[in-house]
Amino acid sequence: MTDEELREEVGAWLAAHWKPAARETGADSMAPRKSAWMAKVVEAGWAAPRWPRQWLGRGLDDHQARIVEMEFARVRAPGSGQDRTNLWANTLLARGTEALKARLIAPLLRGEVGMCLLYSEPGAGSDLAGVRTRADRIDNHFVVNGQKVWTSSAATADYGMLIARTDWDVPKHRGISFFFLPMKQPGVEVLPLRQITNESHFNEVFITDAIVPAENLLGEMGEGWRVLQTALAYERSVMGEAARGPRSGVAETKGEEVLIALAREAGALSDPVMRQDIARAIGYRELNALNTARAKADLAQGTSSPIMSLGKLAMSRILHEEARVRTAILGAGSLMEGPDHPRAEDANFLALNAYFTSIGGGTDQIQRNIIGERVLGLPKEPEIDRDIPFREVRGG
Ligand SMILES: Cc1cc2nc3c(=O)[nH]c(=O)nc-3n(C[C@H](O)[C@H](O)[C@H](O)COP(=O)(O)OP(=O)(O)OC[C@H]3O[C@@H](n4cnc5c(N)ncnc54)[C@H](O)[C@@H]3O)c2cc1C
Repeated sequence: MTDEELREEVGAWLAAHWKPAARETGADSMAPRKSAWMAKVVEAGWAAPRWPRQWLGRGLDDHQARIVEMEFARVRAPGSGQDRTNLWANTLLARGTEALKARLIAPLLRGEVGMCLLYSEPGAGSDLAGVRTRADRIDNHFVVNGQKVWTSSAATADYGMLIARTDWDVPKHRGISFFFLPMKQPGVEVLPLRQITNESHFNEVFITDAIVPAENLLGEMGEGWRVLQTALAYERSVMGEAARGPRSGVAETKGEEVLIALAREAGALSDPVMRQDIARAIGYRELNALNTARAKADLAQGTSSPIMSLGKLAMSRILHEEARVRTAILGAGSLMEGPDHPRAEDANFLALNAYFTSIGGGTDQIQRNIIGERVLGLPKEPEIDRDIPFREVRGG
């Protein structure tokens, strides 16, 4: 099929099925409608166009898959390009058992399954290979015990992507396994934590004798670190491409770059220092978009890509910088808060929420280490516990 034929096919399909006006004006809740739309996208093979047909894709190459995504973007229809962005489905497709894929790939693409990441623990964050949650195999299942923390969306999740130790007698990176843990079971207790933004999206998760079927193991036993690298690459790629915007819901601009619009509104657009700050912030974002496109072209299915760390680090800098410029534009007005002061509310929220990207998914410092060691080829950090059996590693 030529590019033009493909563009026509996608365009015709969207014209026949995508009815944004009906969706926006409907009185019912969005969720089932959105799910019905996603089901159509998945069924037609547009959700993950790079994937084989067996897994609901179209087997397209990257160039043609981009055409599909661009056609969806042109009419603002969601659901396509999940073969780049759906962390859960991509990790499952790359490393899952046939049974688990058959059960969950389609519901994941349709957005019907709630997911969370059970990685961090009180004693293992940046040093994730130090996890002490354990999974012991008994017959055809594993029994899991331990504690996780900072787990976003755990309260609503159906499954958690879990890393747990299955072998204590080998060095720390080699004794970890990767699972899809069913969250809705008596052995999983979720307690919310309050964030700096006054929201409670993340949680503590206490796991006591929870059961995970053996078919929910991704990769081989003890191969969890490698599976994790695949999952982290997808996570960092998503975080490097986009971030949450303001939460006030106030429409900010009329097609104009937001920082320029805010400066115009505040009468600060003729200030030369402000103009430079704004230009720099916009420049960072443009550069990151180009760099992300370059990195994405390198990310083959099922491999980790340390270059994704560059995009995530850049996005962290962009978010902090944009929040700083917003605050500078507002001046003393940024001290206000509440619904009567949406501009200040937005600036303050964005300043605080920027830490989501600079800590979640691995901190800025860790991304710098990865870039230094795996992209630039600098010597590795000394790690005294890397090669000894985990059982002998001192714990806090
Ligand atoms: C909003 C948000 C959502 C999150 N969601 C999830 C989630 O869903 N699931 C999940 O598992 N986790 C989640 N996390 C946790 C996140 O991944 C960890 O907080 C992060 O990896 C850092 O670990 P830590 O908090 O234990 O800090 P530590 O590892 O204790 O680090 C403390 C400080 O030391 C620095 N540091 C540590 N080691 C090094 C080193 N080798 N070189 C240089 N500096 C170093 C760090 O950069 C940091 O500044 C979330 C975090 C946030 C903020």
